[in-house]
Amino acid sequence: MQLEFFGAAGEVTGSCHILRANGKAILFDCGLIQGGRDAPERNKLPFPFDATAIDAVILSHAHIDHCGRLPLLVKRGFRGPIYTNGACAELVPILLRDSAKLALGDAERANRNLPPGAADKVLPLYDLADVEAALGLIQRIPYDLERELSPGVVVRVRDAGHIMGSSSVEARVSESGVTRRIVFSGDLGQYDTPILQDPYAFTSADVVLMESTYGDRRHRGREETERELGAILEQAARDGGNVIVPAFAIGRSQELLYLLAEHYAEWHVSRWKIFLDSPMAIAASRVYWRNPDRFDEEASRLRESFHGLPPLPNLVLSETGDDSRAINNVRGGAIIIAGSGMANGGRVLHHLKHNLPRPECHVVIVGFQAPGTLGRQLVDHAPEVRIHGQRVPCAAQVHTLGGLSAHGDQQDLLRWYDNFKPPPPVYLVHGEPSAADSLAVKLHARGTSVTVARPGLKVDLASLNSLAGD
Ligand SMILES: [Zn+2]
Repeated sequence: MQLEFFGAAGEVTGSCHILRANGKAILFDCGLIQGGRDAPERNKLPFPFDATAIDAVILSHAHIDHCGRLPLLVKRGFRGPIYTNGACAELVPILLRDSAKLALGDAERANRNLPPGAADKVLPLYDLADVEAALGLIQRIPYDLERELSPGVVVRVRDAGHIMGSSSVEARVSESGVTRRIVFSGDLGQYDTPILQDPYAFTSADVVLMESTYGDRRHRGREETERELGAILEQAARDGGNVIVPAFAIGRSQELLYLLAEHYAEWHVSRWKIFLDSPMAIAASRVYWRNPDRFDEEASRLRESFHGLPPLPNLVLSETGDDSRAINNVRGGAIIIAGSGMANGGRVLHHLKHNLPRPECHVVIVGFQAPGTLGRQLVDHAPEVRIHGQRVPCAAQVHTLGGLSAHGDQQDLLRWYDNFKPPPPVYLVHGEPSAADSLAVKLHARGTSVTVARPGLKVDLASLNSLAGD
């Protein structure tokens, strides 16, 4: 029995790890590599395994860097089951269909730039038919129940508190009379995050695969973040303009709506008209609202006080392009939540074009903005930006709100790990080297054996000490 690291080893995206036991092979995730100029080429490379020889996939959650290469796996011959939690299974189609559309757009753009008569056209990584084939393989597994995936491999998924339907995976692997327990953290949420429950506290394992995205960081406190948002809205109401929030469709959009509901009276939210202007965010929100059994206590109480969901009487769901364009005529009193999260595409661009030149408007940045994106230029207070080829002066007030992250920070990660008794060895995945190294130092200080995983690294599970018992 063996673990092998392939993706999200030494970096954040492309999550994929391989578990082999009793002649069978199971993948933990099969995610897309994102960011970096070479990402499209890297995604196309052959897998270090034969896709037809993979027996099953277990998927931790619906983010594209965890599920985004499943259609490619299917295109290359995988026909086994893809196991995941039910709420995740509802989110995955939204993301994968969008991913196929983006892949097609990328290929078309690349082909337009080819010299005339070029023989080799760029093909998309996969198409909608591959996506539908992958979706057909999904089998839902509930949280907390054991499920045998293949002979000698029994898994159980637990709530990771990261996004709706996110899981940590516990696998009990037996071969030739030897049993080892593996815990794969998946992506771990912050403790006390809105809506979702805290990450499940595992107490024993023989080896842990742990994410390290923010292994070197402390998030700003939640209360401070909420106070700040309340103050921004107060100022914006006095100024009489609109508030534009570029937000990721899954997680951040729902969290913002939740905060507006939670502080409905205190922040006088009724004076605003709130637009959720993103078909993907609307679809994802519906998945959240359909799964109240996964809410934490506060969210459950809030849901009751609003007699169901969506929780805001002044919320407008803008599904169509016409709905979205109609918002352009609104000069003040609107909170507009739209994608993309880094303002490098999507409907938010139109809203920024209309509102950035107006000093009475406000822009609230709620997520990480990668270098080179429009969102980053706004964070850096550029005096002027280009949108759709036009120069747009930035007179609106731009605020950067920390603290609203779907990932736990260093403290959260250590709190999650400290539940294990005795402390099992750790392989750090899903982090830039600086973040993983920083977390490794903290874990070392606890006497833990820590390895920052590299692609191709193999771990012989039988050679590990048995800490968890059978
Ligand atoms: Zn994630």
